Amino acid sequence: MKKHNFNAGPSELNESVIRSTEEAVRDFSGTGLSLLTISHRSKEFVAVMDNACNLVKELLNVPSGYSVLFLQGGASLQFCMLPYNFLQTKAGYLNTGVWASKAQKEAKLFGDVVELASSKDRNFAYIPKGWEANVPAGLDYVHITTNNTIYGTQIKNDPSVNTWLAADMSSDILCRPIDVSKYGIIYAGAQKNIGTSGATLVIVKDELLGKVTRPIPTILNYKTHIENDSMFNTPSTVAVYTCLKSLEWVKSIGGISTIQKLNDEKAKTLYGEIDSNRLFKGTVEVAEDRSLMNVCFVMKDEYKDLEDEFLKFAKARGCEGLKGHRSVGGFRASIYNAVTLEDVKALTQAMKDFDKSK
Ligand SMILES: *Cc1c(COP(=O)(O)O)cnc(C)c1O
Repeated sequence: MKKHNFNAGPSELNESVIRSTEEAVRDFSGTGLSLLTISHRSKEFVAVMDNACNLVKELLNVPSGYSVLFLQGGASLQFCMLPYNFLQTKAGYLNTGVWASKAQKEAKLFGDVVELASSKDRNFAYIPKGWEANVPAGLDYVHITTNNTIYGTQIKNDPSVNTWLAADMSSDILCRPIDVSKYGIIYAGAQKNIGTSGATLVIVKDELLGKVTRPIPTILNYKTHIENDSMFNTPSTVAVYTCLKSLEWVKSIGGISTIQKLNDEKAKTLYGEIDSNRLFKGTVEVAEDRSLMNVCFVMKDEYKDLEDEFLKFAKARGCEGLKGHRSVGGFRASIYNAVTLEDVKALTQAMKDFDKSK
């Protein structure tokens, strides 16, 4: 049976990425050795790292003066590494979910943190509005989480503030064009929208580094990784390879603008069904905050007891990974770049058929 993978992360990859990785595991780049066993210093792997970094620059239109890195430790290590390198006195954090709260908690170890706005009062079911105008002067940076994976909310523009932005884009990087020049640093765990787990993409503006006065441990200093082309220590070779293959796939279908159109259509199809189906409702309060990547929905109160049955019904049709995060309940369909319109239609058909069966 054809599977439709709606897992939140690690998550779906395009078939071509899986196939090339499979081939590389047997024979990497004609070396006669497996991707699992080659040296990261071999010229073939150095080319993988260089090409992946260059493709990020090309696809996201990264201006000169920025470095692209593939690090380890996940987005979670960035929660601490970022303030270690950039927080001298005071930073602003926008609290839009559990990941955003975790980032904020780590920053407090390094300096003062101003919570610019929070949507915690209503279980993060919306994106706070109007906070940009009230950002106090003199902050080192403003940190945002562009897509809230657990709650299905998304900031779909690049906010304008009186300092530079730092952004966790783990679950929506490469889903739409962004204005990188507004950001001092962007980071994303690879396992949602770029590749598989083990690598973290970091895009950092060089001139902002080296300004904090505290000593920074070597491996936590972005400069170390820039100077060593992400090879200060052994990188996550397999994960970086999957990133390269995904980036090549995005380029081959027409780049970010094509991906954005596809994502819009997938989201429109799924939210359309949620809004029109008798049994279901969305959990995000207003349509403009709805994520194009993680679609959260539940059964209407009078049908709540049918939720487990629907999960089984959908699974029998190949729809995997639909159970919502425990803090929201219901369902979450993660429709990252590699999830197809066909996958989404399998889900909406299951929703229609389940409705008819009741
Ligand atoms: C998944 C996720 C994280 C955590 O990523 P790790 O790579 O597991 O540390 C952080 N932020 C967001 C927005 C996420 O979706």
